[in-house]
Amino acid sequence: MRAGAPWVFSNEIEMTPALKALAPGSLVRVEGGDGRPFGTGYFNPASLIAARLLSPDPESRIDEAFFVERISHALSLRQAFFETPFYRLIHAEGDGLPGLVIDRFDDVLVLQITTAGMEALIAPLQRALESVIAPRVMILRNDTPARLLEKLDLYARPLKGGMPPHVVVEENGVRYFADLEGGQKTGWYFDQRFNRADVAALARGHTMLDVYCHGGGFSLLAAKRGAREAIGIDSSQSALSQAEEAATANGVSSNCKFIKADAFVELERLGTQGDVFDIVVADPPPFVKARKDLEAGARAYRRLARLAAVVTAPGGFLFLASCSHNISAERFAAECAAGIARTGRRAALVRQSGAGPDHPVHPLLPETAYLKALLYRLG
Ligand code: SAH
Repeated sequence: MRAGAPWVFSNEIEMTPALKALAPGSLVRVEGGDGRPFGTGYFNPASLIAARLLSPDPESRIDEAFFVERISHALSLRQAFFETPFYRLIHAEGDGLPGLVIDRFDDVLVLQITTAGMEALIAPLQRALESVIAPRVMILRNDTPARLLEKLDLYARPLKGGMPPHVVVEENGVRYFADLEGGQKTGWYFDQRFNRADVAALARGHTMLDVYCHGGGFSLLAAKRGAREAIGIDSSQSALSQAEEAATANGVSSNCKFIKADAFVELERLGTQGDVFDIVVADPPPFVKARKDLEAGARAYRRLARLAAVVTAPGGFLFLASCSHNISAERFAAECAAGIARTGRRAALVRQSGAGPDHPVHPLLPETAYLKALLYRLG
């Protein structure tokens, strides 16, 4: 905190009985043992991250005006980068609003609240969103297991308007479909937007295998940019149906194919069969969900890199990503390198990236930069 970090861990404060008795999510003034004020935050005696700072001003009022300022600041960042209103509008600490994620699908907002402190502030937050964005629909997707760390229950419900079954996502000139109610996360993985464009730029006249394709994020853009054939693999039928619908809507259904399969099983099968693709994308769900899963997850990333390299054509490109914040960028890259090396293929790392600018990272929480993406050219 002295250096400007926005979190206080429970073992860093004097847990007095009075403090322990505070209701989860209470607003507090945070100060050092020497009385030096750090600012205004919220507190949860049940959480390992006991307090999160909302403002460096110890007298700050956390009201509608506070949220209006934060949301407007976040909005202007997105408007600087994106022409259309489809992006992550609020990325928690990166936007000065710990415990809050908001994804924007034009006039539909999907909110995800992960802390008791933010949950207690829904009313002024909602009024501020009305004033800055005036959305037609707001949905609370408060069903992420991260809430359990704050002893919050899991639920999903509309906050304003009805639950729209499907919404359109306009991105890189493609129209995708997202399922806000039953879909994964908040319905769309906005974080890969720039990576999709980078990979698709290589696709003209080539073939692509999009492993863990979800709604067709990588493959549909590649097809739209002239890929000869794009094949998507996913284990979720609803994700595949959305990808298929979007292929039709974008006029690329004749060169796209979506297959329901387990990624590892299908990669083994394609590899054994000797099938290869000019571009292979593997963007899996988090393999390291908790720190204790690090070794098992690291092995899974290595195995995925190996199997994906096997089906990458000579001279082709291999894109590997990890969205696990519990594995470091260095370790992930080391596992990918080891997996590719096992195939005996020559490889060059040609690009390293992360999430787009609508996922800003607080400079003192570099570990929250969860998305790691590596693009290799294989020999
Ligand atoms: N690349 C996608 C996002 C991938 S998210 C995009 O650009 O939007 C991870 C995806 O992996 C999810 O769609 C999930 O359904 C799928 N998945 C999870 N486990 C899987 C498995 N064992 N085999 C295949 N797909 C799996």
